Amino acid sequence: MPERLLRLSGLEPFVLTSDIPFVNVGERTNVTGSARFRKLIKERDYATALEVARDQVENGAQIIDINMDEGLIDSKAVMVEFLNLLAAEPDIARVPIMLDSSKWEVIEAGLQCVQGKSVVNSISLKEGEEQFRHHAGLCLAYGAAVVVMAFDESGQADTFERKTEICARAYKILTEEIGFPPEDIIFDPNIFAIATGIEEHNNYGVDFIEAARWIRQNLPHAHISGGVSNLSFSFRGNEPVREAMHAVFLYHAIQAGMDMGIVNAGQLAVYDQIDAELREACEDVVLNRRDDATERLLEIAEKYRGEAGGPKREKDLSWREFSVEKRLEHALVNGIVEYVEADTEEARLQATRPLDVIEGPLMAGMNVVGDLFGAGKMFLPQVVKSARVMKQAVAVLLPYMEEEKRLNGGSDRETAGKVLMATVKGDVHDIGKNIVGVVLACNNYEVIDLGVMVPSQKILEVAREQNVDAIGLSGLITPSLDEMVHVASEMEREGFNIPLLIGGATTSKTHTAVKISPQYQKNTAIYVTDASRAVGVVSSLLSPSQQKAYIENIRAEYLDVAERHERSEAAKKRLPLADARANALKLDWAGFAAHTPSFTGTRIIDDWNLQDIARYIDWTPFFQTWEMKGVYPRILDDEKQGEAARALFAEAQEMLARIIDGNWFRPRAVVGFWPANSVGDDIRLYTGEDRTETLTMLHTLRQQVWKRGNRPNVALSDFVAPEGAGPDYVGGFVVTAGPEESEIATRFERANDDYSSIMVKALADRFAEAMAEMLHERVRRELWGYAPDENLGNADLIAERYDGIRPAPGYPAQPDHTEKLTLFNLLDATNATGVELTESMAMWPGSSVSGFYIGHPEAYYFGVAKVEEDQVRDYATRKGMSLKETERWLAPILNYIRKDAVA
Ligand code: SAH
Repeated sequence: MPERLLRLSGLEPFVLTSDIPFVNVGERTNVTGSARFRKLIKERDYATALEVARDQVENGAQIIDINMDEGLIDSKAVMVEFLNLLAAEPDIARVPIMLDSSKWEVIEAGLQCVQGKSVVNSISLKEGEEQFRHHAGLCLAYGAAVVVMAFDESGQADTFERKTEICARAYKILTEEIGFPPEDIIFDPNIFAIATGIEEHNNYGVDFIEAARWIRQNLPHAHISGGVSNLSFSFRGNEPVREAMHAVFLYHAIQAGMDMGIVNAGQLAVYDQIDAELREACEDVVLNRRDDATERLLEIAEKYRGEAGGPKREKDLSWREFSVEKRLEHALVNGIVEYVEADTEEARLQATRPLDVIEGPLMAGMNVVGDLFGAGKMFLPQVVKSARVMKQAVAVLLPYMEEEKRLNGGSDRETAGKVLMATVKGDVHDIGKNIVGVVLACNNYEVIDLGVMVPSQKILEVAREQNVDAIGLSGLITPSLDEMVHVASEMEREGFNIPLLIGGATTSKTHTAVKISPQYQKNTAIYVTDASRAVGVVSSLLSPSQQKAYIENIRAEYLDVAERHERSEAAKKRLPLADARANALKLDWAGFAAHTPSFTGTRIIDDWNLQDIARYIDWTPFFQTWEMKGVYPRILDDEKQGEAARALFAEAQEMLARIIDGNWFRPRAVVGFWPANSVGDDIRLYTGEDRTETLTMLHTLRQQVWKRGNRPNVALSDFVAPEGAGPDYVGGFVVTAGPEESEIATRFERANDDYSSIMVKALADRFAEAMAEMLHERVRRELWGYAPDENLGNADLIAERYDGIRPAPGYPAQPDHTEKLTLFNLLDATNATGVELTESMAMWPGSSVSGFYIGHPEAYYFGVAKVEEDQVRDYATRKGMSLKETERWLAPILNYIRKDAVA
């Protein structure tokens, strides 16, 4: 009896003797692995396709794998045709053929035309033992060796245990029942991608290597093979790193007993020649030697990318060859929408019910996204892009699900819970809320979004009707804080018992703990810092097992926060108003002569050019909107976020170009200047230069906190020359990117494209802020004209390296939002620009900015901080507003408990 060796043949024999450590199976003649080969086959360019095969043999492939599995190719006919042509090329046909197909009939057709002894790739227990026996028997009859995939009725084997168990079972059937020669069995225990960022994948390399070792020791004479390129899938686009990973993997796997592999024979790095640093990092991931192995390899990967680099990430379409489930997952993780409709349709046709596609591959893909986001390996913009893929896939399935429901009352999709989201009454800002909604939705929560300016009773009505599991409130401006307190107390009054989530720019843990939480004790109010936290918070709040402890924890924490806040506020010494005034800022008015503006009264500015405005954009807040913290442009080179930041920035530039080219926004602005002098804490504006008749009064608030040293207790009026100290002026402005934004955003939303909707809103905001910057510059140089020679770059403008300020009502130097009403009246702003004020003094459209201009070179931004009752009473009298009303508007800065506070 000859030695039990794998003996194959093309025109020439091939015997796998012990002096051959490893057999290279050429992989390029595979339509699913090579885009080029696929194209050649599709175009029936067989001459060139044969060249590909020849190259493989010349490059050292000892066997060539041939695969014609493609939806649009008649695989069987093409396989036969190609094999017959190949048989006529002795320099190729000398090596054995590996017939690769997932369709048995293709394999069988191939077996009928190859000469010599080939290899069937593959058979498995996937469809049960009977099918397996049948195929194995045929292989035996045709005289072929077989690749046996570690795949059984319950799926592909991923762990060492599953791999070895399936291989042992297959081996037993083959050798004991069928009489298959064990040396003709080649096991493929599945090489899966590692360093994907998913913890469960970290050990895949080790699982394969150990399974190989086990098979060698326990299943005599059998061989071990695998498709190697899968391993480095997460580094696609970075060929040098991929090659290094393959070389390191093979080095260890071959030692363990792997003796065959499907590789690109012309592209294998030599283990010993790999740069030591890269080799060690690869070894760490392949052997799963340290927890941070993936991060470390990622960190150095860019360095090795090489000049020309491999094909660019977005250009690499090899993933199109995966199974439809894997393609959907890939599209979700990478946020690629191009193919999602076709792929979803394909998955639907394969599935028993459309819902299975959602609950199967789509949810599986979103789980991967959720894990990566949770682990800080994906950033918010990428998640929102993934959600867009999900939404578009669901949109394909929805009509079928509805149809199914209509026909046989099929059930609804099971979700993790229902969350109602709303921007509170009087507020129009919703980017943050929308982002949270998207993140929740892609974690399988059903989100009911009521939009902006939603009154309390509407929120509670829908919450009850829809039986929601939680309510999320959002708001940007300070009056919204009070509205949230109101909603909380209404929930308590109406007996709600569901969590209340609080989010938005001016909200805080302290405010939630001190003002909102005490109003709603039936369940709990909780502050959610940002979208990345939302899922964790909601899932804890809704989890029957965690809920109780979680809420108790929040309660305890908030009590503590509130107490500490009270103590620290109580420790701050505050001055009576009279003393604060006595400590006002005293500028040297004798040495000051205000510049006379080029005009007084108002002027509409409508010669805006979007391209010009774009140059004034401050990009740092743009990244903040997407919850990426860092300063532009440094953030683009950030170690951790850099890549995501660059991708986001590139897409922002694309959208920006569309906005500019398509003239999507119609910016409007109005600006005005008036003769002015301060009178105590107020500023008097005059109707004319003679300064005899009052046009209107501006009211300002003064800091009352006690200060160390001789630092002043300042009010904005301190920056304006007092009556009798010479003429001075104050300006004001309103700018808006225009109302078009919300219409465009809605259009994107309707097209299931939240990503673009959020993007266009974020950019509209940037345009408005940039307009404010640009107009302010024009004011200093020309319209007011006190700094005609100023010439600052954008960085200097952003850093406010100019004279004068543009304080905005509702901001720390003037916390009273109602001063916006005065400003709007002065400028006739609504008629001039279309910008309206809501009942909470929010500006609509949201991408609008307003403020006063103060020109004094020593003027600066400050915070009024908490004020005492004596000032509030005085301020109410000066404004001619009731104390109650004044207290309502100043609620966030009152340093005392108002009598009529919501109880
Ligand atoms: N470059 C930033 C600027 C916005 S914030 C961006 O593009 O987003 C700066 C503006 O907020 C100022 O111009 C002023 O209008 C307002 N502001 C900031 N701090 C303030 C304060 N303490 N009091 C009043 N207004 C303030």
